[in-house]
Parts: sequence; C-alpha cells; structure tokens
Amino acid sequence: TSAAPILTLANVESAYGPIKAIRGVSLQVRTGEIATVLGPNGAGKSTILKTISGILDPRKGSISFLGRDITAQDPAAIVRAGLSHVPEGREVFPLLSVRDNLLMGAYTRSDRDGVARDLEAVFGYFAILRERMAQPAGLLSGGQQQMLAISRALMARPQLILLDEPSLGLSPKLTKEIFEIVVRINRERGTTVLLVEQNANMALNAADYGYVLENGRIVMEDACERLREKDDIKEFYLGMK
Ligand code: ATP
Repeated sequence: TSAAPILTLANVESAYGPIKAIRGVSLQVRTGEIATVLGPNGAGKSTILKTISGILDPRKGSISFLGRDITAQDPAAIVRAGLSHVPEGREVFPLLSVRDNLLMGAYTRSDRDGVARDLEAVFGYFAILRERMAQPAGLLSGGQQQMLAISRALMARPQLILLDEPSLGLSPKLTKEIFEIVVRINRERGTTVLLVEQNANMALNAADYGYVLENGRIVMEDACERLREKDDIKEFYLGMK
C-alpha cells in the first residue's frame, strides 16, 4: 500500500534493567491497514507495544504518531492522541461491571452522545457484551474478556489500536471469531491495527503487512501475501514443510 504512515518507529531500543528486549526496531504502520509483528516467545513483541503506548520509555530511537513525536510521552496523553493498547492478558477490571469497564475506556472523552453511540457500536460487534453488561467482568470467559478488552480500547475512539496476542489461551474457533471482528472493525470504522501474535497463521491471513521479530530485531518484512509464500515462514511459523 502507498498510504501515509500513521505510526513510525525509528531505531527504537528498549530494555528492562540490563536486559535489552528490543534492539533497534524500525517499522511503519500505514493509515487504514492491519499490520502485524510475528515472532517467537520472548522476541520482544509485547515490549514494542509497551514502548509505543508509553508504558515503557525507550533507551534510544523515536516514535511518531500522526506526524507528532510521541516518544516517551505519558500513556494517557498517547490515548488522547488517538492510540489505544489492548494488553496481553486483557487486564479487564474484574470487579467492575462489563458496562463500567467499557466506560473506563472512554474516560478521556467528554462527548456523552458520542460515547453512547460507541457503546452501541461495540455491542453491535460483540452482542454477548450487551447480555452481560451488568455482570462483573471477572465472571466472563477468556474469550469474552478479550472481546471486552478490545471493546474498551475502541471506546476511546482510537485511530490506531495495538493488539497484544488476542488469541492467547483461546480456542481456534473463538480466535477465528475475534480475528474476523477485528478485520470488520478495521474495514468498517477505518481503525488502523497493529497486531502482535504468535499465531502466525491467523495474523498473516488477517493482516496486510507483516514484520518478523527475532531476538529484538526485525529480520524480515513484506506484504502478508508474500510472507505467506516464503519458505522460512512456512517452515518456522506456519508449520509446513
Ligand atoms: P511473549 O509472547 O512471551 O510475551 P514477546 O515477544 O512479547 O513474548 P516480550 O514480552 O516483549 O516478548 O519480552 C522480550 C524480552 O524481555 C524477553 O527476554 C523477556 O524475558 C524480557 N522481559 C519482558 N518483560 C520483562 C520484565 N518486566 N522484566 C524483565 N524482563 C522482561
């Protein structure tokens, strides 16, 4: 695609104390696309997302979003700028109702009518959340909590949503369902998506453009339709010979 980048990482390095988790990552996400970062356990995928959303400050490099430098800005400012993060493990508020979890996602907004419309919109994507609206989120199944986490992020009306391993712990059937809805949200709302996944098969089918991360470095990138045809990807990520 030739659309302008909504997000650019230039030479980003992040570490946990002495442990270098990402070592000079440069990547772009184009407006309107679904981009994915694939890689094995511990490659640094979650660290990339945490660094983008301001949970972790990079040691080096820069991050720009919608043409603005957001490097090391605080997470609330980054949400207000239009970027929402769905963390690994969902992290819903277990004692709050489903509805209150959703409203927490909209805490940066003051347009009540818009918030009410977006609540309807997320119920349109995930009907089960309407049924469970009054229940504590902790009583939802893992798949429903993932749906809630995605919906909570949408309640901020993001232009870009970061999704950390939405398939984690879910059945293949539920994973497929959630991916289909993510694609619909992208197509219907125009929300750009950056998805990190160990499930390469699902990610390469849903996404337009992909990066492969190993040991904190990008080792390959291409359109997903081309990545799917590469021998290394077939062998190491798709389990084909
Ligand atoms: P996973 O799918 O297991 O989350 P990942 O590709 O997302 O893998 P990261 O979670 O980004 O990988 O981890 C990258 C590296 O940083 C790993 O070596 C990991 O052990 C280390 N790491 C991650 N979080 C921390 C932390 N809070 N403290 C110390 N080291 C960490």
